[in-house]
Amino acid sequence: MSEYQVLARKYRPKDFSELLGQDHVWQALSHAINTGRIHHAYLFTGTRGVGKTTIARILAKCLNCETGVTSTPCGVCDTCVSVDSGRFIDLIEIDAASRTKVEDTRDLLENVPYAPTQGRYKVYLIDEVHMLSTHSFNALLKTLEEPPEHVKFILATTDPQKLPITIVSRCLQFVLRPLSQELLHGHLSGILQKEQIAFDETALWQLAQSAKGSVRDALSLTDQAIAFGGGQVQTDTVTQMLGLVDSLDVLALVGDIFVDNRQAVATHIQRMRMQMVDATSMLDKMVDTFHQLALVQILPDVPLDMNDAQKQAFLALAQTIPSDVLQLYYEIASKSRESVRLASTPIQALEMGILRLLAFRPLAINQMTVPVDNLTDDNLTDDNLTDDNLTDDNLTD
Ligand SMILES: [Zn+2]
Repeated sequence: MSEYQVLARKYRPKDFSELLGQDHVWQALSHAINTGRIHHAYLFTGTRGVGKTTIARILAKCLNCETGVTSTPCGVCDTCVSVDSGRFIDLIEIDAASRTKVEDTRDLLENVPYAPTQGRYKVYLIDEVHMLSTHSFNALLKTLEEPPEHVKFILATTDPQKLPITIVSRCLQFVLRPLSQELLHGHLSGILQKEQIAFDETALWQLAQSAKGSVRDALSLTDQAIAFGGGQVQTDTVTQMLGLVDSLDVLALVGDIFVDNRQAVATHIQRMRMQMVDATSMLDKMVDTFHQLALVQILPDVPLDMNDAQKQAFLALAQTIPSDVLQLYYEIASKSRESVRLASTPIQALEMGILRLLAFRPLAINQMTVPVDNLTDDNLTDDNLTDDNLTDDNLTD
């Protein structure tokens, strides 16, 4: 039996056509390569696992493929093969998060003027570039001001705000977008079919949702799910593995809270205890649910990133809960999430949050303590607020 290779590695895109999402990026890069107008420094920003390193590797192949500079590298020449296997000597990958000392960057940048060893271009990939020290930035800036012909820089960061503007202004910037659940779901489904691994749809949606837009996370979660499920990807094992409650269950809980069905809410709480639900991710999901519901109500044109069954359930619930109640629910859920770290156990914070959602609700007009009909001027005159009622005796009691 051949050695198992993790999915993220096995299915790392080898050229632009395999890149998931990010069409705007590969189209611009292909065009630049095909027209010979390649910028000397690119800055890729975006959350983790959306393809920054992958794009850098593809670009290194495009520039160095033995068939010539091309947007469609051959994938079989020595250069392409060695880039794919991470052995290409002229692709210099630096993780700035682990190399922030100025000497490190200086070492690296001192070698920039030298011609490439193997290929046409040296490609420097500096990941998490915002982590460099000020001195390192200055050293980098000097190089970016007068880059040698044979060098291309790819800077990547999850936190572009922390980059000096002098660096940013010398780069061509691309924002890599988080991938939609639908795209991730389709990707996972295709891979599992190729791998001949059985799966069910709900499990895939759960994985796609938990990956939060990162294709790498989606694949490594799927790897875990396969191991956890004994070679299959099934809903119950995925639910257990992720310690999550299905978003349809969250919707059911919210619905039961809203109609004040305390028996049903009690059942939800018992089940969460039994399943050892992760309180923080449950509260995350509740906050997220209130956000999505409010969005559906107020701005229905903003597309929802979810599957059809979820969409229908959301739309139905959004029609029943008034928008001011949703705002209140959102506040309560956010506060409860914050209180997790202060509570003696996370589950306590979660349950108190649910109890608060039940306890605090805008009163309907017929629930007011003073009947509306009696809210006449008579009841609200100063007569009721006589000095008798406000004596010191009453106040000291
Ligand atoms: Zn090649």
